[in-house]
Amino acid sequence: MNQDKKLERTLVLLKPNIVMRGLMGEIITRFERKGLRIVGMKMMQLSDALLAEHYAHLVAKPFFPILRNSMQATPVVALCLEGLDVVRVVRAMAGPTNGRDAQPGTIRGDYSVSNQHNVVHASDCVEVAAVELARFFQADEIFELGDLNINRLYALDELD
Ligand code: UDP
Ligand code: MG
Repeated sequence: MNQDKKLERTLVLLKPNIVMRGLMGEIITRFERKGLRIVGMKMMQLSDALLAEHYAHLVAKPFFPILRNSMQATPVVALCLEGLDVVRVVRAMAGPTNGRDAQPGTIRGDYSVSNQHNVVHASDCVEVAAVELARFFQADEIFELGDLNINRLYALDELD
């Protein structure tokens, strides 16, 4: 089996709103139930500099200071999730940005009524995921799980 070549990794942040509401476990459970492997997890208080980098595409927007404050209201939980096509899978699980547009059954659809307090961040493509993981995790904070439960999650030929 050659899963290391095919398994992708993505960054998820559980935003302060979910920390304050005591829903961290519920959201993590959804990723575990899906069959995504957690290969990194920690709490972090986000600095101004890190947020300006992470949300570089939004720094010039009028709502950026409000967004930055809301992302600093508590520590966030950073997760590195691993699986086949995990970037696409996690974006689909998160749903669209605005919680009011997100379908029930998605995380934002089930836990958010807001365009900003939308529960989770999820990397939006494979290239961005690699950059974001390097921004939030040191190399030794991400773990190699090897074969572990991989045969229960995927058919053998999916990992060829
Ligand atoms: N955001 C906001 N107002 C907006 C657009 C975005 O507060 O009009 C916030 C929201 O929390 C969102 C984050 O900025 O999750 C990043 O925006 P992006 O467009 O990258 O959306 P995402 O990739 O998170 O769906
Ligand atoms: Mg985004």
